[in-house]
Amino acid sequence: MRHYPAPTEQKHFELSFPWTTPPERGDWQVVAEGVVWLRMPLPFGLDHINLYLLEHGDGWVIVDTGLGTQQTRDVWERVFTEVMQDAPVKAVIATHFHYDHCGSLGWLADRFQCPVYMTRGEYQALFVSPSTEGGMGWQMSQFYRHSGMPDEDISGLLSVMGDSSYVQDAPESYNRLVANQVLRIGHHDWEVVIASGHSPEHACLYNRQAGLFISGDQVLPRITSSVCVTVTEPDANPLKEWLDSLQGLRCVSDDVLVLPAHERPFYGLHHRLEQLTEHHQGHLDRLLEHMCEARTADELMRFMFPRVRSSFDVLLANGEVLAHLNLLLEEGRITRQLIGECYRYQRVLASNECSVEVQVTHI
Ligand SMILES: [Zn+2]
Repeated sequence: MRHYPAPTEQKHFELSFPWTTPPERGDWQVVAEGVVWLRMPLPFGLDHINLYLLEHGDGWVIVDTGLGTQQTRDVWERVFTEVMQDAPVKAVIATHFHYDHCGSLGWLADRFQCPVYMTRGEYQALFVSPSTEGGMGWQMSQFYRHSGMPDEDISGLLSVMGDSSYVQDAPESYNRLVANQVLRIGHHDWEVVIASGHSPEHACLYNRQAGLFISGDQVLPRITSSVCVTVTEPDANPLKEWLDSLQGLRCVSDDVLVLPAHERPFYGLHHRLEQLTEHHQGHLDRLLEHMCEARTADELMRFMFPRVRSSFDVLLANGEVLAHLNLLLEEGRITRQLIGECYRYQRVLASNECSVEVQVTHI
């Protein structure tokens, strides 16, 4: 097992990263007593996910699993021998249902015949991914038409949704995690902190004594997690849940070393919570400025994310814009009107704003 210098204690008003470089993909390092950071490869632009291994008596507890691919399982085989010294996995904890976190969940549970711990919302979400076998159903087709998305973009989405990389591996049963529950793992107590918006009921793990916070995708240091409306619930308001959750995470001490699912461990939790809130407030403001005239979600997506090209990016950008629009709708700051097949969104104007025609005097 590789040991690296322990992070130094310091006060943090901005983010700081105790490890300047991450382990190589497929490699690992110790980040605290009994806590190993495993850098699992992903075959995407975001080329890794951080998984955490927690020593637990004569075995281990795993937090998140990677994709359901051979590459992932080859890394696990090496970890079982070289990190875990062939000791058993006693349990697997899944922070949330996404494919990079749960792609090998059932495989790991079967291999060690060990329990899986996750929240009910996340476990149930494993089973609700809409099927695209045999093409797109009418609800999904309508959902994207309502956005004003061109037909060629809609058909491009099908290939993304059918990609086997994005498949979760659901175990037949699970043990439920609930807020404030304490998991005793080895010598450590980890409190379950629930957040929402990126996924329905995302579990984070807070170790007060050791000053550690496994944040999953709920808090990442540089990139922002997707907050998306999908066909499953077109009128959902996940951005409100996300912003409320960021506020709620202030109950976690600002001194913790945050162990995120992507990028590197960092200090500066509260500063990052503020940055993430400001990021979305900025998006809301920009959207509002662009909605003096009625716009479709697709037009607004092109305005907000002009560099979006791939179908995967279109899928996320569309969901992200809809999340912001649904929040503004619920707050009564915009209106939505179905014209033909598309919704058009428009800002609710203050009496002397935008609607006043400017009188130009030509001299
Ligand atoms: Zn995620």
